Amino acid sequence: MTENFTGSFTQQESIPEAGIEAALAVLRHGRLHRYNTNAGELSETALLEQEFAAYVGSKYCLAVASGGYAMATALRALGVGHGDKVLSNAFTLAPVPGAIAAVGAQPIFVGVTEALTIDLDDLESKLDQADVLLLSHMRGHICDMDRLMTMCDAANVKVVEDCAHTMGASWNGVPSGRAGTIGCYSCQTYKHVNSGEGGFLVTDDPILAAKSIMLSGSYMLFERHLAAPDSDVFKDIKYETPNISGRMDNLRAAILRPQIADFAMQCQRWNDRYYALETGLRDVAGLKIIERPEEEVIVGSSIQFLLLDWSEEAVVEVVARCKSRGVELKWFGAAEPAAFTSRYDSWHYANPVNMPKSDRILQGIVDMRVPLTFSIEDCKLITRIIRAEVSAVYQAQI
Ligand SMILES: *Cc1c(COP(=O)(O)O)cnc(C)c1O
Repeated sequence: MTENFTGSFTQQESIPEAGIEAALAVLRHGRLHRYNTNAGELSETALLEQEFAAYVGSKYCLAVASGGYAMATALRALGVGHGDKVLSNAFTLAPVPGAIAAVGAQPIFVGVTEALTIDLDDLESKLDQADVLLLSHMRGHICDMDRLMTMCDAANVKVVEDCAHTMGASWNGVPSGRAGTIGCYSCQTYKHVNSGEGGFLVTDDPILAAKSIMLSGSYMLFERHLAAPDSDVFKDIKYETPNISGRMDNLRAAILRPQIADFAMQCQRWNDRYYALETGLRDVAGLKIIERPEEEVIVGSSIQFLLLDWSEEAVVEVVARCKSRGVELKWFGAAEPAAFTSRYDSWHYANPVNMPKSDRILQGIVDMRVPLTFSIEDCKLITRIIRAEVSAVYQAQI
């Protein structure tokens, strides 16, 4: 009998009841704008910022409209502007070079290793070309952050972390987003918490926090924040910083607060699924597991493996066979960007230069989402399907 999988790869869990209740309360009182508060009232958004700052251990936190907005705001706060260069990953998704383009800057792409992390040797050779690195922990893979920070500090390159896939993860005990100068997170439906759209920016730097708050469209209401620097830090900044609106609203914040409260448990549930998948995919000829370093604590909301040096036809065949059995795999090697996959060389506006070493790896990356609506049994079934189809195509190839 041929087994098929019938679950949905894009179906997240529902919003927790406490979030639904809190959202209804906001809808009933109607004060959705974060600064629309009654005397003595603390807004859902301000409370969320305080709670997220406590969770990651940052001094300051700003909730914003999206992860992409958080990254562009971080770059603006650091003074990146028109014509500047920003180092970033060749293996990432479109909002990352998009945030660089949003401030009129130009990405310099850094290669990817077989561990699916940024190539630190390539980075080292390019550190003299920019003052900022927008580091994407793409698909949750964290590089040797100790080496990266030592290198960047020595070269005086500021690090902005894109933690869209690493909210809740850590390297050597340091939460993802807390090693660099600024950490950015996404609360978009397909990430680790879900408010449809949304994001966070965290930092310990009072000047950068104040600038980011002004940039997000604070008017002169920054005193209504609970995870902001003292108002005297805003003294000059409030006159010198343009308003580029991108605030979060109280409805989204109300939905998110219970999710942050439950977050550690959700991370564990993701990892239960991830490690069931990883175990199920071991020892398949031709399929390379991405081994996770000891220093890395992950949140396994997606899984990747490599079909390294396979022909294009063979990879396409694996993806098609799995799809016909209900398993949706994404391939990062496709020449044409499809849905959420894309490659550095499809961002023509960024004038990418060819990176043959990275191309070899990108051509082998197969990626799968792991929503929490999957059970452990679902994960085991999925691995049986992938094993069978990868093996069948591999045998036929050799
Ligand atoms: C989703 C995502 C972001 C941020 O996305 P928004 O949709 O703007 O919240 C940033 N980086 C990566 C790698 C992402 O996948």
